[in-house]
Amino acid sequence: MKRWNGWGNVATEYPVPPSALEYLTERLGPLDPRPDAAKETLLAAVSESRLPAHRLVDVSAGARLTHTRGQSLPDWADLRCGRVASFPDGVAFPETDEDVRDLLSYAQNAGAQVIPYGGGTSVVGHINPVKSDAPVLTLSLERMTRLLDLDETSRLATFQAGVVGPDLERQLKARGYTLGHFPQSFEYSTLGGWIATRSSGQQSYHYGRIESLFAGGTVETPRGRLEMKPVPASAAGPDVREMLLGSEGRLGVITQADVRVRRLPEAESFFGVFFPSWEQGREAVRAIVQNEMQVSMLRLSSPLETETTLILSGKSWVGLADRGLRTIGYGDTRCLMIFGVTGSRRSFHRTRREVAALCRKRGGLFVGAVVGHTWEKSRFLTPYLRNTLWEKGIAIDTLETALPWAQVHEASSAIPRAIVEAMAKHNEPVLAFAHLSHVYRDGASIYTTCLFRRTPDPDELLARWQNMKHNASLTIQRYGGTISHQHGVGTDHMPYLPAEKGPLGIDALRAVCTSFDPDGMMNPGKLV
Ligand SMILES: Cc1cc2nc3c(=O)[nH]c(=O)nc-3n(C[C@H](O)[C@H](O)[C@H](O)COP(=O)(O)OP(=O)(O)OC[C@H]3O[C@@H](n4cnc5c(N)ncnc54)[C@H](O)[C@@H]3O)c2cc1C
Repeated sequence: MKRWNGWGNVATEYPVPPSALEYLTERLGPLDPRPDAAKETLLAAVSESRLPAHRLVDVSAGARLTHTRGQSLPDWADLRCGRVASFPDGVAFPETDEDVRDLLSYAQNAGAQVIPYGGGTSVVGHINPVKSDAPVLTLSLERMTRLLDLDETSRLATFQAGVVGPDLERQLKARGYTLGHFPQSFEYSTLGGWIATRSSGQQSYHYGRIESLFAGGTVETPRGRLEMKPVPASAAGPDVREMLLGSEGRLGVITQADVRVRRLPEAESFFGVFFPSWEQGREAVRAIVQNEMQVSMLRLSSPLETETTLILSGKSWVGLADRGLRTIGYGDTRCLMIFGVTGSRRSFHRTRREVAALCRKRGGLFVGAVVGHTWEKSRFLTPYLRNTLWEKGIAIDTLETALPWAQVHEASSAIPRAIVEAMAKHNEPVLAFAHLSHVYRDGASIYTTCLFRRTPDPDELLARWQNMKHNASLTIQRYGGTISHQHGVGTDHMPYLPAEKGPLGIDALRAVCTSFDPDGMMNPGKLV
């Protein structure tokens, strides 16, 4: 069963060792965990539905509560502090494209707004109902999960868009294929959600971001059905498929998607390398991509992130590795790089050797598969840490950007610094650190995490969060980064979008929304 006010399955826990809690308390100060609001309190706050009856629409308080918020820090604060100000008036569960069509007509007749809902893993306010006089229908795709077709000649699979990561991969694996799209939210996020948010998987360096995996599909819009035939490439004017990527539910409901799949790899493994400094690690990462070595993923953690994540992992080998690194001359500073190799057996061994040699040349210590294996095993479990730490009195938030290599160096320290400076105004410490999470020949994405104490007053908590977010976002803008590399815009990044797209760009985006949805019924208040 899914947690109603946190991440993931209620049966899964991510325990934090006492030594890690001590480490965090030393840096953040004494913690003051308060109990969360009871589910009954929130259920009692759900007002009467304004929607007429429909066979596919559930207006129960339970369904409306569990679809009202995503996974952003403000979402957690709303749910856990019991102060949700807006609920959808009903949640629809279509099974077919015809059901979706029928529901859009029903919403049009009822003057309702429609929020397409995939897995609800948004971290930027995408799926939250905006307070309005119109009733709000959340349209969940959780019953639209089937593999409809697998064209093995073209290596194209057609899925209903509500399929979640593990289910999609299970259906493909049974036939010997994989999509290879593994966002950290893999367990719950959906194919339709990935497309609508321009998502990026952890191995996108090898498999490609969702933009290159999404080949075509079907969208039900307020003005009718849009079909996009999958073609390998096209010069037939601007690509309508591109308009759907990142559309955040504003244009319609993606009901089916054709995706480019591959044969399951013969070999795959993840490896660790320690660097004595950030600069050496960063230059090694840049050399790996610019020399076009065939890695499937690369991430490089800053010294503070390396220290914190190793302590939080609670693994027995961490102390051993620390002593080993000191023996060979490492000081307190070290940066952990994880790289993955995926592909044929022959290319696998060659790439692993090449990358290890390049890292050694640049001062890195290749430590083999133990660290990489630990990362692999916990890659979808780490989000559960948010539950554990919240219950101990610590909130976590993340933000991300991408910029050219020329800016990566300064921005990767300036963004965490902006967060620390914002909290200093509240006289509060914060642990803020970054890693390079996705790499490209011309640049990289910087993924920043901050850990800070919860306050008993949710308004104060949100004020602190807002100041950190704002200061970090202005810093991203100052370095010319994008306001989001993978999480999307939603409500939280909307104020920063005009600076990135320019007035003409924003006008064009608005015009696209209006042409698919003239009455503005699709997910209003998000994106633009
Ligand atoms: C712990 C955690 C880790 C994460 N890691 C990553 C990561 O590694 N990479 C990454 O890219 N993102 C990540 N995210 C963000 C999030 O998972 C992605 O944005 C994801 O693509 C959202 O998918 P979803 O199915 O949950 O969509 P939802 O959250 O349900 O919806 C997101 C937006 O898409 C729209 N939408 C959803 N389905 C459809 C549809 N069928 N048709 C039209 N519009 C639709 C919604 O209206 C909404 O605007 C993470 C989030 C969390 C909480």
